[in-house]
Amino acid sequence: MTIDAPQIEDAPDIRANLAAVEKRITAAARDKGRGGDDVTLIAVSKIHPAAAVTAAIAAGHLVFGENRVQEAKAKWPSLKAATPGVELHLIGPLQTNKVRDAVALFDVIQTVDRPKLARALAAEMAKTGRRPGIFIEVNTGEEPQKAGVMPEAAEALIALCRDELDLAPAGLMCIPPAGEEPSLHFALLRDIALRAGLAGLSMGMSDDFETAVRFGATHVRVGTAIFGPRPV
Ligand SMILES: *Cc1c(COP(=O)(O)O)cnc(C)c1O
Repeated sequence: MTIDAPQIEDAPDIRANLAAVEKRITAAARDKGRGGDDVTLIAVSKIHPAAAVTAAIAAGHLVFGENRVQEAKAKWPSLKAATPGVELHLIGPLQTNKVRDAVALFDVIQTVDRPKLARALAAEMAKTGRRPGIFIEVNTGEEPQKAGVMPEAAEALIALCRDELDLAPAGLMCIPPAGEEPSLHFALLRDIALRAGLAGLSMGMSDDFETAVRFGATHVRVGTAIFGPRPV
């Protein structure tokens, strides 16, 4: 009888995955006459254990994304304390009652999508002196269940953040509707940013980050292609 190879699920090779994703980013950027260094790869570690983050850090990666404040609060304070230079982005919805925790923990908050939240963030930053970077999330697909300011209201929210609240938004972020061609959404986000004079564009995930880079992404948020499928 023959003995089959053992049925052990291989741990993803996080170092190799990071290198492969970086390489694809650089290739997509070069297509457009940019350099890969223009694009920040945010490794999305949500649901994955701290050990996965540690493996990415050991491979030299320092920029991460989490989508839930509660989960990040449990996972990140020790990782941050142990890792000078690490940068943590909040990429999921933020409730105003979590603003305090978010400002304390995150270096960039990408999901500012309504005046009430912008005002709460500005107040917390004034109080604590901590100033995370800010992106404004736009609901480019105008999906009722989804977070993000509607495209037609984006300009007013950008103006509120920039001119009245002094939040200095760095750019815009979007999550295109599942199952739709993402290019139209990337182009729309880019147009809104261009009109508002914002340089940052956080768009593109595992399935479409190269397309996003071709449409001008400055930040891509990639989870599965780095860490493998999320545990259920
Ligand atoms: C989970 C998540 C990602 C990463 O998704 P992958 O398909 O695993 O790359 C990117 N952006 C946001 C907002 C997310 O919640």
